Formats: sequence, structure tokens, C-alpha cells
Amino acid sequence: MRYHSPTSFDEAVGIAAKAQGVTRFLAGGTDVLVQMRAGAVLPDDLIDVKKIPGVRDITRTPDGGWKIGVAVSGAELGAHEELCRDWPGVVEGMELVGSTQVQGRATLTGNLCNGSPAADSVPGLVAAGATVTVTGANGTREVAVQDIPSRPGKTSLAQGEVISAINLPPRGENAGDAYLRFIPRTEMDIAVVGCAVSLRVDGHKIVEARVALGAVAPTVLLVSDAADALIGSTLDDAALEALATAARAACKPIDDKRGTVEFRVDVAGVLARRAARIAYDRAKGVSK
Ligand SMILES: Cc1cc2nc3c(=O)[nH]c(=O)nc-3n(C[C@H](O)[C@H](O)[C@H](O)COP(=O)(O)OP(=O)(O)OC[C@H]3O[C@@H](n4cnc5c(N)ncnc54)[C@H](O)[C@@H]3O)c2cc1C
Repeated sequence: MRYHSPTSFDEAVGIAAKAQGVTRFLAGGTDVLVQMRAGAVLPDDLIDVKKIPGVRDITRTPDGGWKIGVAVSGAELGAHEELCRDWPGVVEGMELVGSTQVQGRATLTGNLCNGSPAADSVPGLVAAGATVTVTGANGTREVAVQDIPSRPGKTSLAQGEVISAINLPPRGENAGDAYLRFIPRTEMDIAVVGCAVSLRVDGHKIVEARVALGAVAPTVLLVSDAADALIGSTLDDAALEALATAARAACKPIDDKRGTVEFRVDVAGVLARRAARIAYDRAKGVSK
């Protein structure tokens, strides 16, 4: 195995483009190193992105959004007060990943690129309308987060492409988001269902919404029918019921020992209602 530690994304792209065989990027390593130790993945080229300047930075962009470096850990994200105020749902998704030890290493980018349908930070990013900057041989392009995972364990990134940043849009006024997951234990488990809701209110009325579901399909789902159920409502019982119905209808889950199809579909509706209530209270400044 060849270990590389490039000092720019262009250098990383050059190494990845020339690499033959199995290539992995190394961010926190909490997926890659576990897979290597288990013998499940044996990279020929391991490209460590942590020596690239700026990868540990969280910066406000000129439009009021955020640029998050690809090696920012969950712990660093959770310690950033301003980001937590703007996007509590995005941060709480990442903070659910693993233990204190895992939090010190694990990144949003690694969680996204590992390609797990149950990745806890991805629904929050999708509900937020986040994008990633992808750097390749021909420059950079911006891609919606929901378009990165292509199927379990796979991404849409071409060989020689690397994610160089995660971008969150400006939060603006009267807005809130939330992420909830169901796991059979209290922590350190994989989501059986996850749901994120992001919305904006004008007075009591919801004027914008995005709803994302995790672990109920091969990739995280952006459910526009669920968002439509919320928009124009004051989160009354009818809107919550329509939201739950739309969330349940979008699910195409697997059936396994951790949850049957029926259970996962039902829980998707329950979590959508609960996450919407939290996001709504946050948007109205009732809770943090
Ligand atoms: C004990 C334990 C508990 C866990 N609990 C959870 C949990 O509750 N929820 C959950 O969702 N996950 C959990 N995980 C999985 C893991 O911690 C997360 O997926 C984590 O966010 C991965 O981030 P990382 O930086 O460690 O990724 P890495 O292991 O460094 O990389 C993961 C993948 O991303 C790719 N990659 C990394 N950086 C880039 C880049 N810049 N561009 C393109 N591709 C890139 C790598 O090639 C690799 O395929 C757990 C893991 C452990 C060991």
C-alpha cells in the first residue's frame, strides 16, 4: 500500500487520477481504518487529506453561508457555537456518529462518502440544501449532497475526484432544522430510520421546507411530497398527518433483523412528525 499526504487538492487529484487498483481517501479514518483492519478493503493507494491547508476550517462565506473543511471532526463541528445556532439539525446528525473517541476523528465528508444509507449526518445536510465542492482534473464543480451517494457503499464521484469542501447555504431568519434517528439501543448503533426536517416560518405559517429520510432506501431520500405537506400550514394536525403519510409512502426499506419493512415505514412517519415539531419550534425561537 502506498500512503500519500498531499498538501493541495490538485496534488491529491493528480495522485488519485494516476492510481490503479483500490484507492481510498483518508479523513478521520473511522470507516476506512476499520475496513482495512477487517480486511474488507485493502487500498493500493491511501490518500490522506489532512495535510491540505484549510481542511480543518469552518468559515462563514460572503453570502452568509458556511464552508466546512473536509477534515473537520464531529467534535469541532459541535464546538462551533455560531454554526450550531444556524444549523442545529446538521450538527446534531453528526454528533450522533459514534462515541467521544470517534467524534474526535469522524468527518461529515467521510460519513457522506462511505455511502451508507444510514449515515447519520447525511439527512440533515440534504434537508439543509447543502452542496459539496468536487475537485477533479478539470477544476471544481458543485454537487448537491443527495447526488453523491449512488448506492450502498458507492458514490457518484469519478476516479480522480475528491471532495474539497462542504457548503451550507445562508440560514436566514425564522428558520430551524432537526434530525432524529431510531436505534434499538441508546447510542453507538446504526440508524434503523433517520429523518431530518428544515423549514422557515412567516409568523405561524411554514413558507419553506425540506424533508430527508435515511436508512429507508439505498440512498438518503429528499421527499418533496413531505415538504409540500408542510408548506402553507401552521403545523396543525392535518399537516402532520399528511407529512407522515408522505414520508411513509417514500420508503423502500430493506427487511432485516434490525427492523422489518412495516416497522421502518411506520417509524419514518413518527420521526417526520417529531422532527418537524422540533424544527418548527427552533424556527420560532421557542427552543434551541
Ligand atoms: C465505533 C463506531 C461507531 C460509529 N457510529 C456511527 C453512527 O452512529 N452513525 C454513522 O453514521 N456512522 C457511524 N460510524 C461510521 C463512521 O464513524 C462515520 O461514517 C464517519 O463520519 C466517517 O468519517 P471519517 O472522516 O472517519 O471517514 P474515513 O474513514 O476517513 O473515510 C470514509 C470514506 O470516505 C471517503 N472520503 C474521505 N474523505 C473524502 C474526500 N475528501 N473526498 C472523497 N472521498 C472521501 C474515503 O475514501 C472512504 O471511502 C461509526 C464508526 C465507528 C468505528
